[in-house]
Amino acid sequence: MKKAKVADPTVTHDLSPERTDCPHCGRSMRADYANRRTLHTLAGVTRLNLTIRRCHHPVCTAHKRPFRPEAEGSFALPRHEFGLDVIAFIGRLRYAEHRSVPEIRTHLVGRKVAVSERTVTNLLDRYDELLAVSLADDRRLQKLLAKQGRVILAIDGLQPDVGHEVLWVIRDVLSGEILLAKSLLSARNKDLGVLLRKVKAACPVTVDGIVSDGQHSIRKAVATTFPGVPYQLCQFHYLREAGRLIYEADRHAKKELKKKVRGVRKIERQVEGRTDTEAEVIQGYCSAVRSALTDDGRPPLDASGLKLHERLSAIGESLDRVEEKRGYRGNSNN
Ligand SMILES: [Zn+2]
Repeated sequence: MKKAKVADPTVTHDLSPERTDCPHCGRSMRADYANRRTLHTLAGVTRLNLTIRRCHHPVCTAHKRPFRPEAEGSFALPRHEFGLDVIAFIGRLRYAEHRSVPEIRTHLVGRKVAVSERTVTNLLDRYDELLAVSLADDRRLQKLLAKQGRVILAIDGLQPDVGHEVLWVIRDVLSGEILLAKSLLSARNKDLGVLLRKVKAACPVTVDGIVSDGQHSIRKAVATTFPGVPYQLCQFHYLREAGRLIYEADRHAKKELKKKVRGVRKIERQVEGRTDTEAEVIQGYCSAVRSALTDDGRPPLDASGLKLHERLSAIGESLDRVEEKRGYRGNSNN
């Protein structure tokens, strides 16, 4: 019989638990076996090679309970084949841009995520469910966490497109359950702090640890809301994935900006050899543009296209001010 063809992965991640000691008894856990997951994400078909650890201490309450890599949940919900970034993207298109299901599908196909309209509808339902989670009122979650005795929180900020809102997801690493998800317009730590306090107030057990990437806004919000709780930076976290997209968008923006300022050489040639004030000013601007062009950043946190845009804008504003002054002087001379 013919097997359904699964696309070859374009991205592969090997993930291991950052934590090596058992969260329940403190003894070291063994890397017991590996799992493989194939996901459809905005970055392409993604293969996760997962190392699973387990505690082998016979009297531990979590004896032989699988401990999965903390970062796994930032890629996808448990047992899902579509990435959380895809769900976040769909939610944004639906609610912020009021797109229809067929339109959303077209957008996804454009991003090389092969989906049917029915899948889009299902994923939209997942998005709605995700945002409807209320830890305080969810009896199933309350019971599950109480039985587990502790939680380890993971915080993910999903931003499928630069400049749009962030879908914040706070989950429990031990159970894989989402405890809170909310879409916010900014990544400000003040807003994130509100979400963290909400989880803290509704959580029936102690928070034993927190995992996230190194974003400054997250670190600050965590330190304020959970003082003294062990905080672990996930070596591997979502940012890198998002970073790839930012990198590509940035590279494109830089190319377009460079096209716009190509004329700088011609201007320079025109004032070559002149030593008057006007020529000096023009030469100064030209060299500012030049140095802006050669300034390379390190995306995603220090994107060079963005920097180029900032620098060119500053130069443009400065030129505007020069023009304004001229206009003013012209008037006063009359
Ligand atoms: Zn144990």
